[in-house]
Amino acid sequence: MTTERTERKQVVVVGAGWAGLGAAYHLARQGYAVTLLEAGAYPGGLVAGWQTPQGRAVEAGIHGFWYPYRNIFALTDHLGIQPFTEWTRSAQYSPHGLEVESPLFQAQPYLPTPLGTFLYTDFKRLPLIDRLSALPLLQALIDFDNSDEAWQKYDRITARELFRQYGVSARLYHESFEPMLLVGLFAPGEQCSAAAALGMLYYFILAHQPDFDVRWCRGTVGAQIFRPWTEAIARAGGKILANHRVSDVQVENNRVTAVVCGDEVFEADAVVFAVGISGLKKIVQQSAQLRERQEFRDIRNLGAVDVLATRLWCDRKVNIPLPSNACFGFHPTTGWTFFDLNAIHDEYRNEPGTVVEADYYHANQLLALDDDQVLRQVQQDLAGCIPAFGEAKILDHSVVRIPQGVTHFAPGSYRYLLPATTSFNNLFMAGDWIVTRHGSWSQEKAYVTGLEAANHVIAALGQGQPAEILPVIPDEPHIQALRSVNRWVRQGLQGLPSFWLP
Ligand SMILES: Cc1cc2nc3c(=O)[nH]c(=O)nc-3n(C[C@H](O)[C@H](O)[C@H](O)COP(=O)(O)OP(=O)(O)OC[C@H]3O[C@@H](n4cnc5c(N)ncnc54)[C@H](O)[C@@H]3O)c2cc1C
Repeated sequence: MTTERTERKQVVVVGAGWAGLGAAYHLARQGYAVTLLEAGAYPGGLVAGWQTPQGRAVEAGIHGFWYPYRNIFALTDHLGIQPFTEWTRSAQYSPHGLEVESPLFQAQPYLPTPLGTFLYTDFKRLPLIDRLSALPLLQALIDFDNSDEAWQKYDRITARELFRQYGVSARLYHESFEPMLLVGLFAPGEQCSAAAALGMLYYFILAHQPDFDVRWCRGTVGAQIFRPWTEAIARAGGKILANHRVSDVQVENNRVTAVVCGDEVFEADAVVFAVGISGLKKIVQQSAQLRERQEFRDIRNLGAVDVLATRLWCDRKVNIPLPSNACFGFHPTTGWTFFDLNAIHDEYRNEPGTVVEADYYHANQLLALDDDQVLRQVQQDLAGCIPAFGEAKILDHSVVRIPQGVTHFAPGSYRYLLPATTSFNNLFMAGDWIVTRHGSWSQEKAYVTGLEAANHVIAALGQGQPAEILPVIPDEPHIQALRSVNRWVRQGLQGLPSFWLP
């Protein structure tokens, strides 16, 4: 079955996560006939939310919206919705108990970075000498300017090796940096690219004092943001087709002319692929047209990480001092977080018992457990942080397993990550793993790359206005000055013969 051709130029977007929805919405508003094909039953991708048969709202893990997510905040303003909580404080736990409390950084007197992060964070146990051992790492943060050159240089080594080279103490690494990597990049330090680690740490924590401040949706992101957003896409004339798994493309004269989805064929003047790494690998495996191209064959060098998201309804109130909490030291290569949903989600505010979300990242071994085993593990871990969880009875639960779900920024992976443009004239890429010089990460990056892909379509098809993309907040003046000096020194060294391994 082939879809009818309309007068308007047709764009097919594949994948309805932040990236695909971002591209689809902008292009629909520019007058394109947009069809968004989504393999899953709901739009949202990794952030989709749905209801259990008992009518309880669940989602594939809780998602935070950090202070620098300017484009996402601009979108929710544009849609006229207020989906977010106030800015929240967070804590860190180890099996020894509470380790760190973060203040609201934007409420503290502003200090040049990184002073605010160092001085205002309340470390309960970590000695000053360990914290000070992070200082030499500033040199690498200055040197890593998100350029192609910087990625090539730092992507070759692991984050652990980088921290070791710069003299970070073992305790600071295990109690601070590695937990951040597990939560931010979903992998332990020896499995993370140093480039990704530097980019992620700078964006979320170090670029400006308030960057680590975070807020949450007052319900599932699906209900709070994606529902009104998909309605706006429909009003703009875009079509979103769920349960449509794309398997191939048709090609003529170096242009993708149609997207194949089961026995349906969707003709296209331009195509945006906004699927994750695992999704694209499956499409390439089925598509002789894509397999012919080196860039798509190379995708097989990339990987993704297992994640587990659990939600527990308890029979009693357990006092969780702060709404969001990250934990370390419980599992050697798995990070986890827990969230007080009575404090975050409107619908649980008056629930008689605690509703808690516990999400595990790099959760490979946990995906092999059945639900009862998972619940026992979660309750044991929660009780390791807040002992009262040990006494609570679990009345209801949701366990969501996401195998190979999130992007793995492994050392050496950068050379295989795709840019927004491909060797096809009219096929563009978007998603949180696509190379961009914007500097953002995670949901914000996915959304920004969706807008960037839309702008490539507009440039290729010559219809409509490009989307305005807000840049990341500029570096503070002293960082700009240090980066200039560093570039100047680097350029001076460029003439030297390159005899040693970089
Ligand atoms: C547990 C967890 C916690 C997280 N926490 C945070 C957080 O706190 N803050 C944050 O910013 N980010 C967080 N993230 C990361 C964030 O979810 C992702 O960065 C972001 O959602 C990626 O969006 P995307 O559009 O690039 O990809 P995805 O959301 O993966 O969307 C890709 C879509 O493509 C579809 N697809 C795949 N193959 C096909 C096909 N063949 N045909 C049609 N459709 C297809 C998929 O079904 C999916 O809907 C978290 C992720 C997880 C899993």
